[in-house]
Amino acid sequence: MNTVTNVSECRQAITAARKSGKSIGFVPTMGGLHEGHASLIRRSRDAGDFVVVSIFVNPTQFGAGEDFSRYPRPIENDAALCRSSGCSLLFNPEVSEIYPPGDETRVRPGRLADGMCGPFRPGHFEGVCTVVARLFNIVQPDTAYFGQKDAQQAVIIRRMVADLRFPTRIEVCPIVREPDGLAMSTRNAYLSPEQRKQAASLYRGLRTGQELIQRGERNAGKVVFAIRAVLDDAGPSHIDYIAVVDPETLAEQDEISPPVMIALAVRLEGARLIDNLIVTK
Ligand code: AMP
Repeated sequence: MNTVTNVSECRQAITAARKSGKSIGFVPTMGGLHEGHASLIRRSRDAGDFVVVSIFVNPTQFGAGEDFSRYPRPIENDAALCRSSGCSLLFNPEVSEIYPPGDETRVRPGRLADGMCGPFRPGHFEGVCTVVARLFNIVQPDTAYFGQKDAQQAVIIRRMVADLRFPTRIEVCPIVREPDGLAMSTRNAYLSPEQRKQAASLYRGLRTGQELIQRGERNAGKVVFAIRAVLDDAGPSHIDYIAVVDPETLAEQDEISPPVMIALAVRLEGARLIDNLIVTK
């Protein structure tokens, strides 16, 4: 595995790989890597790609007062995880490499960014689209791998790729969970032992919602109410939202018609956690 920090070296290494006949796979990350990220890297490796992983804590997707400055940056552990998962090229740029002096261009998503996390994180998805578009222009991947963990992000990126005519295929990979169901996340490191136990209630809540729908409940309000009860029962938290949405359009469903996605965002002191589950019938 090679590590590069600037755009020209990155392009050179990728051009050489492409010349040797390899497809280019790309896994964009913010570092603080865990098994969820590793699953994406392995997926690309198993597809036979020359696997490019970026580690870049993107300032434009953090709001004022969010955790940009304290976001974990354990670059040596991250590099080791990349290497052992099958990464071919690690791209770890400085902010000025992605946002050069005088930078002012942004990629603004449309209505897909209006619901779910959108209102709670103004500008977040614009920051995500902006950095992903820039990274795609640098890496020019054949396939880019994203996690279902960030379901709204994946839908928005698919739309962006179609709208801006990127020649990149988007593959969305399943959520990797801890044994108690908690979705793996870099931000889980912020949780105290007490909060860590409480955090398992997100998945329990989602499963409760899933069971209700599978037993025939079609009223989204009732499903949301039952999930809220599971979360409240586990301890104090601030629920940003619990929503039942169409997995492709992200439109909220009042009358449930599977497949649907149940999605939620919950703030425990110090950490904002998101999770989702798709219910197919
Ligand atoms: P991040 O570093 O948090 O920006 O995430 C980089 C990529 O890893 C995104 O496509 C995420 O959706 C994905 N990802 C994060 N956590 C998980 C997980 N638990 N399972 C699967 N993919 C994940």
